[in-house]
Amino acid sequence: MVTIRLTNSKTRKKEDFIPLDPANVRMYVCGPTVYDRAHLGNARPVIVFDVLNRLLRHAAKENGWGKVTYVRNFTDVDDKINAEALRRQKAGAAGTLEDLIHERTEETIAWYHADTDALGALRPDHEPRATEWIGAMVAMIEDLIAKGHAYEANGHVLFRVRSYAGYGKLSGRSIDDMIAGARVEVAPFKEDPMDFVLWKPSSGEEPGWPSPWGKGRPGWHIECSAMAHELLGESFDIHGGGLDLQFPHHENEIAQSACAHPHGQFARYWLHNEMLQVEGKKMSKSLGNFFTVRDLLDQGVPGEVIRFVFLMTHYRSPMDWTAEKALNAHRTLTKWYRQIGLSTAVAPYQPVVDALADDLNTHEALTQCHALSNAGDFSALRGSLVLLGLFDGNIPAWAQVPGFSDAETGLVRDLLQKRDQAREQKNYQKADAIREGMKRAGVVVRDLKDGEPEFEKAKNFDVNVLDAVWGET
Ligand SMILES: [Zn+2]
Repeated sequence: MVTIRLTNSKTRKKEDFIPLDPANVRMYVCGPTVYDRAHLGNARPVIVFDVLNRLLRHAAKENGWGKVTYVRNFTDVDDKINAEALRRQKAGAAGTLEDLIHERTEETIAWYHADTDALGALRPDHEPRATEWIGAMVAMIEDLIAKGHAYEANGHVLFRVRSYAGYGKLSGRSIDDMIAGARVEVAPFKEDPMDFVLWKPSSGEEPGWPSPWGKGRPGWHIECSAMAHELLGESFDIHGGGLDLQFPHHENEIAQSACAHPHGQFARYWLHNEMLQVEGKKMSKSLGNFFTVRDLLDQGVPGEVIRFVFLMTHYRSPMDWTAEKALNAHRTLTKWYRQIGLSTAVAPYQPVVDALADDLNTHEALTQCHALSNAGDFSALRGSLVLLGLFDGNIPAWAQVPGFSDAETGLVRDLLQKRDQAREQKNYQKADAIREGMKRAGVVVRDLKDGEPEFEKAKNFDVNVLDAVWGET
């Protein structure tokens, strides 16, 4: 039995996670606007909610739940996407504006998938695109108008914020505080400055869809409410996203969904990940410290290393990306991958599961992995790395020892560990026997002052001798 505890932003408490319907555990996470390459900060919710997704799937097996349904949307309706397509068309690109928008979003989605795959994130079960659910959004907006929560004005449809008493509960602010704090757009046709757009008109060259209010396009917030409802129902378990989305995006999602489906609960648990900095500073183009996931991959920082660095910090704390952390993560993972080469797949180590179940304490989970590595329990280490999304069954090419198979590397690594232990225990006879045995098997070892020993094959390398030496010690 795995008892998961999560900090619920809605109640500001750490609570036991109890699925609404154990046959189908449901999670919705706000996805990217598919306009450009994912920058490093965008990778944080990807990794955080992938860890949660993997933990839920593990708990489902252990607790006898049914399936887990994970939905993450693609926002492919956006003024920046439209502007970019228009710019391309004016620069002479062939095709209609719709074609160019489609090209841009398809390309960006392919980049996003390549980046998130490299980070070891499982693809969600559903990745709805806003443009495929316009009908559901129009229906929800009509429903909100009929119930008195929205109104048409000047070709727009706006949500009447003051018609929903719970507005501001998630972020813990009053409407008047929000007006004072936010840069709200004061359009003359709004009944109240806080009212937000559900539908807006599209002029001549802008893309649009037919609606009862004329040709137009949906606002951003209605997307998530409509797609979550279509794919997960009126009430589901977890809603996640970056802390930057809590207000106004998530407040608006709650208002829309609660008013359209007053008998539902929308999401029961809200999880927000904190933001990312780089070398102690906010990432920004003007500071020159702005980079994408792809930039790092292209510089030779493996996806597993990026993921490891993210897991070092708890998701509710701000995290700092540093080159030094990446270097240390690279060293640790290289060691671990070489250690698990020989091991067989077993269940993850219970303390690693317990750490994740305690509000996704990934830092503690990694500490437990270090302990497994030091204790020589490589099978449990392997099982734990699978759960953490750091190992998919194949040692990544960058962590392999040239010329050695994973099993051979595992034998050598294990022997070196035994040799070092023997030395520590001042059992020099055993240490010498291992050294002699490796020499007989044709393994040349170079001990380094700093870091893992390096090794290579001599001409007389014989894996059977190596195996026999391993068996004797
Ligand atoms: Zn959303």
